[in-house]
Amino acid sequence: MYLKSLEINGFKSFAEKSELEFSSPIVAIVGPNGSGKSNVAEAFSFVLGEQSIKSMRGKRGEDLIFSGSKTSGNLSRAGVRLTFDNSRKIFTIDFPEVTIERVVYRDGANEYLLNGSKVRLKDVLELLAAANIGASGHHIISQGEADRILNASIKERKEMIEDALGLKIYHYKREESERKLEKTMENIREVNGLRKEIAPHIKFLEKQVEKVKKAESLREELSELYHNYLKREELYLADLKKKFDEEGKTPTSEKEKIERRLDEVKKILAESESADKKSKELIEVEGELRKAGEALEEARREISRLDGMISGEERALLRAENEAKTAKAVAVDLSEIENLREEGEKILAKALKEEEVSTLRGLIGELLALLKDFVTSKKTNEEALKAVKEISAEIAKLQEQKETLQKKEGAFEENESVTKKRYESVKFSIEEGRQRGREAEREMFTLMNRRTELVGILNNLSSRADQINREEGAFKEELEEAVTLLGQPVLHYNDLALPKDFLEEPRSEQEGRRKKLEKIKIRLEEAGGAGGEEVLKEFDDVVKRDLFLSKEIEDLKTSAESLQGLIKNLSEKLDIEFNTGLKKINAEFEKFFTLMFGGGQASLSLAEREVRKRRLTELQGIEEMEDEEEVEIEEGIDISVSLPNKRIKGLQMLSGGERALTSIALLFAISQVNPPPFIILDETDAALDEANSKKYGDMIENLSKYSQLILITHNRETMSRAGILYGVTMGANGISKLLSVKFEEALAVAK
Ligand code: ATP
Repeated sequence: MYLKSLEINGFKSFAEKSELEFSSPIVAIVGPNGSGKSNVAEAFSFVLGEQSIKSMRGKRGEDLIFSGSKTSGNLSRAGVRLTFDNSRKIFTIDFPEVTIERVVYRDGANEYLLNGSKVRLKDVLELLAAANIGASGHHIISQGEADRILNASIKERKEMIEDALGLKIYHYKREESERKLEKTMENIREVNGLRKEIAPHIKFLEKQVEKVKKAESLREELSELYHNYLKREELYLADLKKKFDEEGKTPTSEKEKIERRLDEVKKILAESESADKKSKELIEVEGELRKAGEALEEARREISRLDGMISGEERALLRAENEAKTAKAVAVDLSEIENLREEGEKILAKALKEEEVSTLRGLIGELLALLKDFVTSKKTNEEALKAVKEISAEIAKLQEQKETLQKKEGAFEENESVTKKRYESVKFSIEEGRQRGREAEREMFTLMNRRTELVGILNNLSSRADQINREEGAFKEELEEAVTLLGQPVLHYNDLALPKDFLEEPRSEQEGRRKKLEKIKIRLEEAGGAGGEEVLKEFDDVVKRDLFLSKEIEDLKTSAESLQGLIKNLSEKLDIEFNTGLKKINAEFEKFFTLMFGGGQASLSLAEREVRKRRLTELQGIEEMEDEEEVEIEEGIDISVSLPNKRIKGLQMLSGGERALTSIALLFAISQVNPPPFIILDETDAALDEANSKKYGDMIENLSKYSQLILITHNRETMSRAGILYGVTMGANGISKLLSVKFEEALAVAK
């Protein structure tokens, strides 16, 4: 025996603590109408976790609590405790006794206790289901519900049988799996939806990323090209400037030199133009020279005349000396000589003043004659001596004159030579001046030509300087643009190695690079790709999310598959177990039926039925309702009976008693196949006549071998089969009371 006791406290009419003990396989509860017997059956349902208050004849939880009466107040809680013997381990917990308790409070709150510890309803239900005690009620047949199985639809019937066969657990599991599957499918749809939602974004970002990548590769290309271009350009410009500076130096200094030289040359030219003055000087000097020459000539002539005179005198002297040797010397009065001299000097003075040669000669003759006369007049020995003296004096006098003249000659010579030199010098200087003038002129032309050339060169240089400035400006702009486009790193081009002779390449090559740069810049602009980092990050995030979602879908699909497999397995198991169970039930049903009716036939069969379901479709904005019919195939269990000696086909043709018998036969058959630990039958026997009550009693006894029976009854026969009888009474206070009664007492109590 599994059931030990039931303690009711505050539940419905049982205001006071009441206890039922189930020490017999059949326990009957008897009592008059309205005493609270059914409340006992409901106390079972309650403690076993029944959630439908309605099935316990209440509306709210508080309807289950003793509501008070005229004489007693209401209670705040209702509690029912059911104690099982677990020595045969019908429950999967390691206790010899299992007490399940449920308490309900006025606010509707429920409490469940397992061996005194609070547990969840779920824990209670699972524990009970494992022991084939469900809350579905196949083992608690409430009052008037005996033929419920006959009235039920084929589908409900199937469910009831499945429940009784303990297959509910598979249903629970299958439903749970189906719910999970449904949820999983919903999740799959949801995740798919999410993927679909982000798909266009991914596509969009993909294009963006493509653009960004393209822009990036363009930027790289541009950067590389820029490095090459900028380095070359910088060095090219530096070289250009250096060369320019070098080239510029020479012509500038040369020009300056030329200017200076030109000044000089101009001066020289100006000087050479003043050569006329020199010509006059030359004429003057020439005159002077001629005069000097004439003076010299005169002096020389005089000297030579004196020489002549001297040599004449010397000869006269010689003769006079010779004469004197012969003749005595003649004394001559000094005054006479003085006279002679005066006479001679007069002639000479005249001669000196005379320029004319012939006059001069006459004078010279006159002088000679004078002298001769004098000598002749004195010529005596004495005279000869006197003549010697006189001649010697004359010679001396002439010598003196000659010396004086010679001195003059020297001076004249000197003068002539100096003048000649002066003349030569003036002449030379004129010639030299002319020469220099010509040279200067020539030089001036050459210089001016060169200067023109240099001005040209310098002009050219200046335009080249402009060009360099422009190129430098362009380079600077290019640098700025490069930094704007590519940032500071673009300026790190110094490490780039260039071929040694790179400066020798034609400029067009660099121009080509420039054009290429421009082209790439345009392409870069077209590619856009601003905020590349963000786009890449977003793309990465979105792709990761998509990947995550697709993985999620995979996982969900896998779990959906395993759930489908589980559902399939459960369905197969259900099918198999149901079919074997059904066979067994059929056999028992047949047995019980023929026992009840003394013959006839009854069987359960699998059936299918079309069920038309009406569906109301509300059309938006239209008041009319449209009916739609849906046909569903329902699987279930059909019951076919044939009573002995009656041509009865179909359950609806049975009498009330026949219906009760048939359903009892079926209930018992079901209970027989998978016996629950206990069965509560609330006045199932109400409609039976005496003969059938007896048969019912037999069946009960048979059934009690497998399940403990609690029978609420007014039936004497049924009472007679019970081992323990409880009487329920209700006094004027509206409180149900329990008492253990004997069979005879029971009969009295039942009335
Ligand atoms: P019958 O033989 O006619 O089927 P019964 O013995 O099965 O009757 P029950 O239906 O169990 O009687 O008891 C009904 C009684 O319980 C009623 O008198 C009802 O007033 C009483 N009752 C039900 N709920 C409560 C409650 N919450 N508080 C007090 N009494 C209650």
